Amino acid sequence: MHHQSFNSFEMAQSQFDKIADLIGLDEAMRDLLRSPLREYQFLIPIRMDDGRAKIFRGFRVVHNDARGPGKGGIRFHPQETIDTIRALAMWMTWKCALIDIPLGGSHGGVVCDPHNLSLREQKQICRGWVRKLFKDLGPLVDVPAPEIMTNPQHMLWMLDEYEAIRGEKLPGFITGKPIGMGGSVGRQEAAGFGLVFVLREALKELNILPEDTTASVQGFGNVGQYATKLYQQMGGKVVCVSCWDQKDETSNSYKKESGVDFDSLLSITDRFGGIDKKRALDLGYEVLPGSDWLEQDVDILIPAAIENQITIDHAKKLRPRVKIIAEGANGPTTSEADQVISERKIFLIPDILANAGGVTCSYFEQVQSNMNYYWEKDEVLGKLDVKMTAAFNSVLALAKKKKLSLRDAAFFIAVSRVAQACKDRDWV
Ligand code: NAD
Repeated sequence: MHHQSFNSFEMAQSQFDKIADLIGLDEAMRDLLRSPLREYQFLIPIRMDDGRAKIFRGFRVVHNDARGPGKGGIRFHPQETIDTIRALAMWMTWKCALIDIPLGGSHGGVVCDPHNLSLREQKQICRGWVRKLFKDLGPLVDVPAPEIMTNPQHMLWMLDEYEAIRGEKLPGFITGKPIGMGGSVGRQEAAGFGLVFVLREALKELNILPEDTTASVQGFGNVGQYATKLYQQMGGKVVCVSCWDQKDETSNSYKKESGVDFDSLLSITDRFGGIDKKRALDLGYEVLPGSDWLEQDVDILIPAAIENQITIDHAKKLRPRVKIIAEGANGPTTSEADQVISERKIFLIPDILANAGGVTCSYFEQVQSNMNYYWEKDEVLGKLDVKMTAAFNSVLALAKKKKLSLRDAAFFIAVSRVAQACKDRDWV
């Protein structure tokens, strides 16, 4: 999969610096919050199926845990770097604070490509990752979750390894587990649905009816799929979906002016969120270059793939009709592009708000796992809606009051809360 050399952590730090100035944080607080509290880098030796040994590189970064145990995903990606992980850990701290759940921010990963690994090899990597880190993981310490190219099965292997080492059942150790094995109903839907809950509030604020809108989505994995599903249920029409094509080693955009049919598109999508090009052509989709999803004449753009996808060149070329950008992915918009988007008065719902549904439901899963009592789906999604809507309203209110962009307002609230927790603990 494609990764640009752009450094996400520098972007996360410059976002922080800007907000630190706005809030007026003192030097010690800045030093504490602009870098991770702790980091782990380690090697995981695996016996491959052909009998050879192979060494994989693993990471875990805890950015801040003043408000509660670390919480964050584990990404499997061939171009994974410590800097991307630092950025994601930091964004996670802000996200948990903004949505107001008692968790801190962490993130981890392994440099590997599951496309080219057997299930047994993937299982070895999962178990190896836990064996290297178990002392610094746990329901009250740091709680992992799935992220790009990791799934409920990976989480269950990790849980099994952790419980074997600890000698007790601790389902609150990890989230994103399979339903029936400690998973929460609604977790699969959570990030995409949460995005649509705040999108619904944004449309209300702008006085636009969902049924009068069209959207273009980048990514048709977990987030992109469920965002598309609920947005269409709400009456909107997704006319273009872009995703990575593993065979062609490039991204493609799939366009259907009359709107994508969710179920048939899903039926030709693999477990990594890749759409089968030939079958898409058979279904009447137009296949366009990967970045064309951004050039569509739509009201709403939903980047839900990876970092650094909307650059300044793209931002300048966005159609005049674009009114809302809802960031499903983490860090999809570069800082320069952000500037242009804000000058163009596009209503941008920032990542730490728009995609917070995932971690919010992870928190619900952890709560259910710790008490070993599981809620019904309506209850989970209802509670998710309450949390997302409340966070949206507080961000919007502060943005209006202080004349800030939604992004700056969201970071302002989040950073203030984390700084307050550090102060209350007498760390600074
Ligand atoms: P996923 O692995 O399920 O899907 C990723 C999708 O992005 C796939 O459709 C893939 O084809 C596509 N993609 C990858 N590289 C691309 C490229 N260069 N161009 C176009 N498409 C590309 O991942 P996911 O869980 O849906 O996560 C997507 C994003 O949302 C990530 O940034 C992740 O950090 C963020 N996020 C996910 C969750 C969650 O709960 N799943 C929560 C919060 C944020």
